Amino acid sequence: MRDETIAIQGGYTADATRAVAVPIYQTIAHDFVDADHAGAVFDLEVPGFHYNRINNPTNDVLEQRLAALEGGTASLTVASGMAAVSYAVLNLARAGSNIVVAPQLYGATYTWFAHVLPTVGIDVRFASGDPVISMEPLIDKHTAAIFFETVGNPAGNVADIAALTALAHRYGVPVIADNTIPTPLMLKPIEHGVDVVVHSLTKFIGGHGTTLGGVIIDAGTFPWTEHADRFPMFTEPEPAFHGVVYARDFPDAPFVVRARTVALRNTGATLSPFNAFLLLQGLETLAIRLERQEANALAVAEYLAADDRVEWVGYAGFPGHRSFDLAKQYLKGRVPPIVTFGPVGGYRAALSFFDSVCLFKRLVNLGDAKSLVSHSASTTHRQLGPEELAAAEIAPELVRLSLGLEHIDDLLEDIDHALNTAARTS
Ligand code: PLP
Repeated sequence: MRDETIAIQGGYTADATRAVAVPIYQTIAHDFVDADHAGAVFDLEVPGFHYNRINNPTNDVLEQRLAALEGGTASLTVASGMAAVSYAVLNLARAGSNIVVAPQLYGATYTWFAHVLPTVGIDVRFASGDPVISMEPLIDKHTAAIFFETVGNPAGNVADIAALTALAHRYGVPVIADNTIPTPLMLKPIEHGVDVVVHSLTKFIGGHGTTLGGVIIDAGTFPWTEHADRFPMFTEPEPAFHGVVYARDFPDAPFVVRARTVALRNTGATLSPFNAFLLLQGLETLAIRLERQEANALAVAEYLAADDRVEWVGYAGFPGHRSFDLAKQYLKGRVPPIVTFGPVGGYRAALSFFDSVCLFKRLVNLGDAKSLVSHSASTTHRQLGPEELAAAEIAPELVRLSLGLEHIDDLLEDIDHALNTAARTS
């Protein structure tokens, strides 16, 4: 099946009721046939559901659908994108490990890396400038992963994924990539060597600003046993789950099986089945929503680029953008419907623009059917100092627009009106 079909029909076969929509299994537990069956389910010897913190049939459909879209072997849905990022890292790093990360990151991911993981003994090493060059000296025998966003939020940089995975694999290091912004319809990181993909499903996949969710997808390809000294959690009996050896017992998807049975089972950031249902609804229309949003984003980027009230525009579809070539290489000629710009007048003008829009919603979210505006330096990345902001490529005046599905003329009129106010203020 093609992506557009998988997004609508993947992973679901109706039961005896022949229900066409995926049912919401609003149940905490599942009735075992007998003690033998219960034991076999717990030992993961037979497929089956036991307790909603660990798995659920509605979530299972979403998991199969997302794994198929990303070209992975299995996936695990969780309560939010941050739960996905956290579990992905904690699944392979432990006190004494380090991870090497690109600096162009979503604000909470940045904070988690810079200020929380170090407190539990996981050293986080930030690359600077071009990660392909600056990451190599940061890697050592304790490096548990390389992490980057395939398209940075809000920097809009496109990662050179093949170069980064080649570098990591030369040192026996797995790669985790956050593919939230492009979605699997524009980019499938596993095709370029990524080992683990994470998403905030809250954004384009949910698509309506109603539902938090996250997912971890296993490519099933990383050779954990070749690096057993660094990754004993995959190669030695797991004390947290009655002696399972993940790489041996679940060779197709050891990463996701461990994330489910250790991280999720014991800390419980579970996606509710109702939220899984809403995310499935969103996924069904992702392909057509993206097309319209991309067209709106291109029109807005062109409008801003031609306007003398605007200092600069960040849009990877323009030849002057530093990721123009990488966007062509990795995004199938498409550009995610996010446009950043700096109004003439700097920080004050940016805040004035933010205050003056009428249709654009002022908030910290993206990927909604509604058009959204955010000002990163005063919100999502507010906790970053000037040097950290510069490293994350967030100018103080950066305004980020996430384009929705409204009529383009209404959006341009709103932008025109807010730019006028910003120009007067500055
Ligand atoms: N990753 C990226 C790239 C994001 O933009 C976000 C949120 O904006 C997250 C992760 C975190 O997702 P959530 O808000 O679902 O926890």
